[in-house]
Amino acid sequence: MKYIIALDAGTTSVRAMLYDLKQRKFVHCAQQEVGQNFPHPGWVEQDADEIYYKSVYVLNSCITLAGAENVAGIGIANQRETVVFWDRRTGDPVCPAIVWQCRRTSEFCSRIPEEMRRLIRERTGLQTDAYFSASKIRWGLDHVPAAARLCREGNLCVGTVDSFLIWKLTEEHAFVTDHTNASRTMLFNIHTLKWDADLLSYFGIREDILPEVRPCTARMGEFLHSGVRIPVAGVAGDQQAALFGQACLARGDGKITYGTGLFLLFNTGRSCAASGHGLISTVGYSLGKKVVYALEGSVFNAGSCVQWLRDEMGFLKTSAESEAIARSVPDTGGVCFVPAFTGLGAPYWDGEARGLLCGLTRGTGRAHIVRAVLESIAYAARDLADCMQRDSGISLNGIRCDGGASANDFLMQFQADVLGVTIDRPEERESTALGAALLCAISLGLCEEGDVSAFRTSARIFRPGEGQAAAFRGYEAYRKAVSRALLHGETD
Ligand code: ADP
Repeated sequence: MKYIIALDAGTTSVRAMLYDLKQRKFVHCAQQEVGQNFPHPGWVEQDADEIYYKSVYVLNSCITLAGAENVAGIGIANQRETVVFWDRRTGDPVCPAIVWQCRRTSEFCSRIPEEMRRLIRERTGLQTDAYFSASKIRWGLDHVPAAARLCREGNLCVGTVDSFLIWKLTEEHAFVTDHTNASRTMLFNIHTLKWDADLLSYFGIREDILPEVRPCTARMGEFLHSGVRIPVAGVAGDQQAALFGQACLARGDGKITYGTGLFLLFNTGRSCAASGHGLISTVGYSLGKKVVYALEGSVFNAGSCVQWLRDEMGFLKTSAESEAIARSVPDTGGVCFVPAFTGLGAPYWDGEARGLLCGLTRGTGRAHIVRAVLESIAYAARDLADCMQRDSGISLNGIRCDGGASANDFLMQFQADVLGVTIDRPEERESTALGAALLCAISLGLCEEGDVSAFRTSARIFRPGEGQAAAFRGYEAYRKAVSRALLHGETD
């Protein structure tokens, strides 16, 4: 049994990656794009069956290559919060999946009274928002007649993408999810690790339509391939899987994923830190009975700002080119950018804020603007890191990075300067898939938590350097610029 397969069911694609446990590396990747539909402004839907068929396709491609008898198990990492409704008797989805980005329930959420918001925060660690699953589930029960009928008859299953995939992939149709995915639903009590009766009652959701919640390392069921039963074991939401794959196992270990958006997760250990700055408390991972918590903050636009420079401004041919262009000038010449294309999250929480480019002079050139955009990504991460340290009282041990834009050496060095901690870039930047593979390996007894760090190798470490003083000054200027970009909030 040489291999483990990590199934990464993301929003834009599903990928199966074949991991060679002995060589400690991925040896094959099969990928399929998945579509998204936008039937009304602000709505985002996906075809859950398409996610399932394409998952089977990529899984089979890896299994065929490896030989089913050589595959020890399948681990799963997935897009979080997205809700699927299906018929318990057939496994058929009854309506399109409501995707995490979908804003159809934002008005509903804005009417949730303050008292309930406080309860939601205490029990689930989350901000009351349409992003999380609860209001999406309520919407389905109210607006999809087939879902309401199946619910009345006791034949409805509702779950996140992991849960749907496990139901479909396993021979026994296991109706299960893991602690990390459950912690994104706004219905799960992250302290008792149970569905919360008060929240279920508030949203009018019966517990029997929801999956059983198990640890990330639980064995979920078996996938049958040419007569061979392959365990499905090891499940986590994508950002949590990345935290695990980056071996952020100690209190104070944090990782930043620099993709389209930016996600910072910070391990707060066995205790759950509450945020006074609008960050989210969440389950980081669970290994059997051991549960580790994390604080999470996100910047909605990070790599997407580089895409904007490339596609809308025409300043770049490729995203990678941003690095050389930024380096071609010694500084931004006073230009400052605020990456608020779709509002600002923590610590400002102003959905109406918009992007801002300021400090322009007659001498401003393309390179200054490109540099200002890259710097703004690092500044936004600093905002999150400051909140996390204040909320938890724990100082950052350093940051481990992954995601597309972590390939940018200029950005990583600038991030080290502006945070004043080391940024550690691993050899294997597919941390999400690695996390799922390692959770699977632990579940099957092929390795232990103590071995996880050995599966991650640093490729390069960026240390705070001579640019630090300038980076700190730049951060002050950024904070001033943010106050001009805000419509509702204030910087503190
Ligand atoms: P996602 O998983 O969100 O689709 P990825 O992790 O694949 O994102 O990263 C893609 C994003 O990273 C894009 O927005 C792209 O503009 C940005 N990006 C990729 N390479 C670089 C680079 N070398 N420098 C800056 N940004 C980059």
